[in-house]
Amino acid sequence: MANENLVVHQFGCLGDNYGYLVHDPGTGITIAIDTPEVGPIMKALDEKGWTLTHIFNTHHHFDHAGGNLELKEKTGCMIYGPSDERVEIPGRDHGVGGGAQITLGDGAIVADVIDVGGHTLGHIAYWFTEADKAFVGDALFTLGCGRMFEGTPDQMWAGLERLRNLPDSTKIYCAHEYTEGNLKFALSVEPGNSDLLARSGDILALRKAGQPTVPTTIGEEKRTNPFFRPESKNLQETIGKAGASVVDIFAETRRLKDSF
Ligand code: ZN
Ligand code: FE
Repeated sequence: MANENLVVHQFGCLGDNYGYLVHDPGTGITIAIDTPEVGPIMKALDEKGWTLTHIFNTHHHFDHAGGNLELKEKTGCMIYGPSDERVEIPGRDHGVGGGAQITLGDGAIVADVIDVGGHTLGHIAYWFTEADKAFVGDALFTLGCGRMFEGTPDQMWAGLERLRNLPDSTKIYCAHEYTEGNLKFALSVEPGNSDLLARSGDILALRKAGQPTVPTTIGEEKRTNPFFRPESKNLQETIGKAGASVVDIFAETRRLKDSF
């Protein structure tokens, strides 16, 4: 099967971003998922002995596409990025949108593109189906989701629902380590969630040891992330939205998080 040998190398960039290199040992194809910071990405390539062949951008923000031009100049890599962003993706060679599929190296690497617009209008996620891994940028975080800078609640919820419908086992690689703050908020809006309470201890222990809480999985987020849980009665009652539509509940949860 394609992709099952894909290697993911994860490292810190800027203040709280994660950089990712996705590498296929068979073909040597190496993809940077977003380009938060050139120095750490070049250092990671050097340490691994990998040559950058591609960049996959999730959205236009500087901490995701800011390193594109310099990395392209240094390596000659090919850049894939969202086709429908309000702001141009620097150096983009191929625009892709929801429903597209990217195939590299004669099928060694296959990624499905998922529309997760809302944080930015054209935000996309890359789902490496056979590897059971998805790179979601700032659409979804461990126990949280991105701020809704450009889209509407309907749009953003539709994107989150697409992610929620991925298999529970899917590993989710998000672009920031925001989990401790997200945990505090999640506990405030769904204090009766026993899975969340149980997870809280694990997360605090990881952070205390300086360890990442990323990747997470779709299954874990379905049990504990309030932005995946508009159907929760405890959440609905806590935020004063009992019986409201899922979009309204999502919108209110997002609004409360903005000022938390
Ligand atoms: Zn962003
Ligand atoms: Fe970001």
